[in-house]
Amino acid sequence: MARIVQKFGGTSVGDIARIQNVAKRVKAEVDRGNQVAVVVSAMSGVTNQLVDYCTKIAADHDQREYDAVVATGEQVTSGLLAIALQQLGLQARSWAGWQIPITTDGAHGKARIVSIDGTEIIRSMESGHVAVIAGFQGIGPDNRVSTLGRGGSDTTAVAIAAAVKADRCDIYTDVDGVYTTDPRIVSAARKLDKITYEEMLEMASLGAKVLQTRSVEMAMKHRVRVQVLSSFNDQPGTLVCDEEEIVEQELVSGIAYSRDEAKVTLIGVQDQPGIAAGIFGPLATANINVDMIVQNASSDGTTDLTFTTSRSELDRALKVVKENMKVPHRSISTDKNVVKVSVIGVGMRSHAGVAQTMFKALADKGINIHIISTSEIKVSVLISEEYTELAIRALHTAYGLDAAA
Ligand code: ASP
Ligand code: MG
Repeated sequence: MARIVQKFGGTSVGDIARIQNVAKRVKAEVDRGNQVAVVVSAMSGVTNQLVDYCTKIAADHDQREYDAVVATGEQVTSGLLAIALQQLGLQARSWAGWQIPITTDGAHGKARIVSIDGTEIIRSMESGHVAVIAGFQGIGPDNRVSTLGRGGSDTTAVAIAAAVKADRCDIYTDVDGVYTTDPRIVSAARKLDKITYEEMLEMASLGAKVLQTRSVEMAMKHRVRVQVLSSFNDQPGTLVCDEEEIVEQELVSGIAYSRDEAKVTLIGVQDQPGIAAGIFGPLATANINVDMIVQNASSDGTTDLTFTTSRSELDRALKVVKENMKVPHRSISTDKNVVKVSVIGVGMRSHAGVAQTMFKALADKGINIHIISTSEIKVSVLISEEYTELAIRALHTAYGLDAAA
């Protein structure tokens, strides 16, 4: 017997027939002799609609009331799925976040889970009931309903799995797993059988939208084994797990990209102590995320400083920089037509030459690299956006990731 948490996303519970289909999947797991808790999202489109209602009344609305409104989507599906399960002869009941309880901090609209008491859910599962839990919501220190940020049901599922010490957390979605890269760009992209937490975290934060980034952080912290799979077929998905569980570790597991990038270059800046602090301090205070940073060596007492931020924050970033440039500089230039492409793999920790393969593959296609940054398990380059597809395809082939034709 295993203890399984299943999570079904919006498209999987998109209409009544799909909810009934989900009920069958839950029953199959129960029939295998397993203890099951289910976490559900709102029916697809519902959360957007609810957000829209709030915005229509007031663009700058009370976040506590926003939470009261948007949390209802998940409540509907949890009740409906419980009814569907009862129709199949199972014992089931719905649970709202506050009933468990799932306590969060007070950041309404993007709250973080503080603690989950798993006692009642475990008791319910042990007595043969299926617990159907509304994802995305909790209860804040002000005793009011809170939500976890868009895509937050993934995080609820992983957190519940940690709290009840589940053997696995199955995240059912509309894709059948995690791919070596975006299959819309590379038709030879392959579904990965397994991927490490560290790699998945990089993939998720670099824009592979399979799992909410926070849910991966949570899985990594509590060592929850997470499987991403489709609710529309019966294929095994991708298991996100510990490195030790992966026998044949590839050098590079995937290639991710992010188009939400913009580059700012400060040209001819006086080279003296405090320059970086004077620029990046105010950016941080303004809550602007800075990603890649490069500073040239200086020979004539001045230097160029380049950094990237997200495209949507470029205008704000520029304003902050201009207001805080207290030292002499020649000019400031910006570029919005850039994309960040990254190769990711825990295998590169112990192998040399991984970056060189990337540089050579890009050079062979005549693609110029603006910025390079590396971490233990990732090499990223910033290139012109027009080369996105070309670069990703070339890298996918260069690292031997293409599926056999
Ligand atoms: N329903 C919420 C959203 O659309 C949470 C989720 O589905 O994960 O963001
Ligand atoms: Mg989702």
